[in-house]
Amino acid sequence: MNTTNQTVISASTLYVVPTPIGNLGDITYRALEVLQQVSIIAAEDTRHTGLLLQHFAIKTNMFIFHDHNEKKQATNQLLKKLQAGQSVALVSNAGTPLINDPGYHLVRCCHKVGIKVVPLPGACAAITALSAAGIASDRFYYEGFLPATKKARKDRLQLLVKVLPTLIFLESTYRLKESLADIISIFGSVRYVILARELTKIYESIYGAPVKELLAWVQEDKYRSRGEIVLIVEGYKALINDSIPAEALRTLTLLQQELPLKKAAALTAKIHSIKKNILYRYSIV
Ligand code: SAM
Repeated sequence: MNTTNQTVISASTLYVVPTPIGNLGDITYRALEVLQQVSIIAAEDTRHTGLLLQHFAIKTNMFIFHDHNEKKQATNQLLKKLQAGQSVALVSNAGTPLINDPGYHLVRCCHKVGIKVVPLPGACAAITALSAAGIASDRFYYEGFLPATKKARKDRLQLLVKVLPTLIFLESTYRLKESLADIISIFGSVRYVILARELTKIYESIYGAPVKELLAWVQEDKYRSRGEIVLIVEGYKALINDSIPAEALRTLTLLQQELPLKKAAALTAKIHSIKKNILYRYSIV
């Protein structure tokens, strides 16, 4: 391990700087030093970042850099500053820039024209949620936000239904229940899902259950769908699923909405002439 802890800012360098996702204590020493010392901070929302800078008494000038101007003039303007020798820190409103936040185009252009890009490690909602999910984390697939409309969302989920690694979704307060209902209809009611809400904040909550139970839990209390949300969804259990015909899985899912698991599995087994145990195992793993 290199134990140096002195931050030396280089000229003509873009620093990608994560900021806290709620708890200001999660800013790193290095992030503060970079934000303090760079020539300029490129920020998604200067009012939002202004509050962070104010909290840490940082007076560096800001430059507005968001989804709407990134591909227009903003990237070119920043490239000119970088080529003229300035150092730039790229931040988003919260978490790691580029992860469902602006910056991809700028970073790509920097590589193209030979500007050095220095990433700082730091807060990221998806990784923070995964680290507390207790769902396989050796392989995972990051999906970000599902589409806003029902049809597009279900189509997207259909494409993801057989993804083996753990899936990570970002979700909004307003769409949580609809998205969980769609996950039930496409992935089945027994897929295990963790709802990680308000991470690092006062009302942080992390709750996991088979998705149908999770939806019922959310519906019980309006506060359970409030705030910022990450969903961690267990991956597809290929071997078991493949031995059960799709029709039988659909029957099982429907029956499980009305009956206890054992009864639903027994009836599905009768209807489709398959072994009850396979269905039961599918439902409880
Ligand atoms: N770049 C950010 C990151 O690295 O975490 C993600 C930006 S994305 C526009 C914002 C979404 O991240 C929120 O809508 C929510 O889904 C998730 N998120 C951000 N902060 C969160 C928190 N404290 N707890 C749970 N989810 C959070």
